[in-house]
Amino acid sequence: MKEYDFLIVGSGLYGAVFAREMTNAGKKCLVIDKRAHTGGNVYCENIDGINVHKYGPHIFHTNSKEIWDYVNSFVEFNNFVYSPLANYQGRLYNLPFNMNTFYKLWNIENPGEAEKKIQDQISASGIVNPVNLEQQAITMVGKDVYELLIKGYTEKQWGRKAVDLPKGIIKRLPVRFTFDNNYFNDRYQGIPIGGYNRLINGLLSGVEVRTSVDFFKDRDNLSKMADVLVYTGKLDEFYNYKFGCLEYRSLRFEQEKLNVPSYQGVAVINFTDGIIPYTRVVEHKHFEFGRQEYTIITKEYPQEWSLGMEAYYPINDVENEKKLNLYNTLAKNERKTIFGGRLAEYKYYDMHQVIAAALMKTKKMKRS
Ligand code: FAD
Repeated sequence: MKEYDFLIVGSGLYGAVFAREMTNAGKKCLVIDKRAHTGGNVYCENIDGINVHKYGPHIFHTNSKEIWDYVNSFVEFNNFVYSPLANYQGRLYNLPFNMNTFYKLWNIENPGEAEKKIQDQISASGIVNPVNLEQQAITMVGKDVYELLIKGYTEKQWGRKAVDLPKGIIKRLPVRFTFDNNYFNDRYQGIPIGGYNRLINGLLSGVEVRTSVDFFKDRDNLSKMADVLVYTGKLDEFYNYKFGCLEYRSLRFEQEKLNVPSYQGVAVINFTDGIIPYTRVVEHKHFEFGRQEYTIITKEYPQEWSLGMEAYYPINDVENEKKLNLYNTLAKNERKTIFGGRLAEYKYYDMHQVIAAALMKTKKMKRS
């Protein structure tokens, strides 16, 4: 008889939801995390009353009432609506691309005219079968929107020219012919009142948690402590990189406290020209309608990733998919290990999706 039913490696949303559900089902869970705090990438550091999103800005959104009710059962969410701006060479445009954007770009007030303008630009491009990201984007939004609002941002984000990026990175671009600056189409969105740590603390309430514990520093002993291992760390690391590294893009954050009540008047501004080296400026207080006399901003710089750096965005190109398939073949045959979450599945997950995945897995386990 082992001490725990589940050893859960990682206290991000996947690990925390898994721990909550199995604890509710009467199972004994131990959660470990190599970071000094819980919450994974949704962790907030409270600095002088402002919840700073330490691993990038996080806006919760979902179409699922079940998921919305679930997260709200741990912490109440506010009515924040994500309406970022784009700054191109000092001029501000609304996002997602909508009538406010088109009015600013072309002085067009009429949705039909805006639609025609975009269609004319798409036709004029002569692109029928796009072969790279640049061509793909132009066939979706035309040349002007692409050049002002997509090109520079995307090239900074991926560290490569848009003509050298696979077209598959852009599957769809939200374009609206209404004056609506709400970035998401989902029915529910918001930020936990008091920050994401309250959500994580609620999920992990009554669960044994040990932070600053790296699974790989004591793998044998830790593995012996539980019947089943739930692993939310990097998949390639679990197998000691035997098929090579699964690659990521990384980010560097530069944070500043400023003695002004509001720096930019909005939570997020994307910098879409190629000259400014950062992609976004985040002003954290706006997520929770803060009224402090000061503010905290973060500039987000995309970075090349190498082993040992924080892994943010998986690079799902052909080479990495090949390696992923090899690792997945091994993972499928593990009898006592569950792999879940963005790192173990090498997949970009939004928060509501990772919660849904953990709930689905635990529902299945409760039935069996
Ligand atoms: P993580 O949160 O990464 O948790 C994994 C945990 O495992 C980490 O705490 C890590 O320290 C721990 N771990 C790893 N290896 C080990 C080990 N060896 N030993 C012990 N512990 C280990 N989603 C949205 O819905 N809205 C947004 O606005 C949004 N913005 C985002 C912005 C950025 C910049 C990024 C990168 C992601 C964003 N996301 C957003 C996605 C969101 O961050 C993820 O859906 C979510 O954090 C995934 O949770 P997870 O548990 O899978 O992974």
